[in-house]
Amino acid sequence: MRDRVGVLALQGDYQKHLDVLSAIGAFGTEVRTPGELATCSRLIIPGGESTTLGILLTSSGLDKAIVSRAGEGTPIWGTCMGMILMAKEVEGYKQFLFGILDVTVRRNAFGAQIFSFEEGLEFSGFASPLHAVFIRAPIVTRMGSGVEALARIDDQIVAVRQGSLLGTSFHPELTGDTRLHEMFLRF
Ligand code: GLN
Repeated sequence: MRDRVGVLALQGDYQKHLDVLSAIGAFGTEVRTPGELATCSRLIIPGGESTTLGILLTSSGLDKAIVSRAGEGTPIWGTCMGMILMAKEVEGYKQFLFGILDVTVRRNAFGAQIFSFEEGLEFSGFASPLHAVFIRAPIVTRMGSGVEALARIDDQIVAVRQGSLLGTSFHPELTGDTRLHEMFLRF
């Protein structure tokens, strides 16, 4: 069966991920229900607002469905808000989390919306810097023993991998740089 890449489409910038997937010849599909998730072999959780999405996830039943797919080893990639939701802990907030990625994150670590920025990022395994857009981005402030840091800005961790799980603070779907999507498809 062809690899079907689900993109969580309850809120946020999911369409941009679908655009990149189609640009690189992958099959992307919107996921709003557990039934739609069941048809996918991997999942991308986009950027958005993590407190809002937490409410939508619980009412759709996707909260439990996604945690159980992570337990089965399904590749899951969270960008920005997506990484926040995957984390075990968020500093200073009580909010819905999948708790599947053994990290602690700090939300809005670079300040408010006006402090959004773009940067050429040294990324583990890539020959040249990755073009990355940071929008009210989180950072990783603690990593469990099974977690590997893939990119940093100064000393701040902005990309991590734990087996088949990938978390990035930034938005690779907003640039023409498709290398991270291609890498995720090889997980
Ligand atoms: N600041 C948002 C949050 O904490 C994430 C922003 C984003 O996904 N671009 O949920």
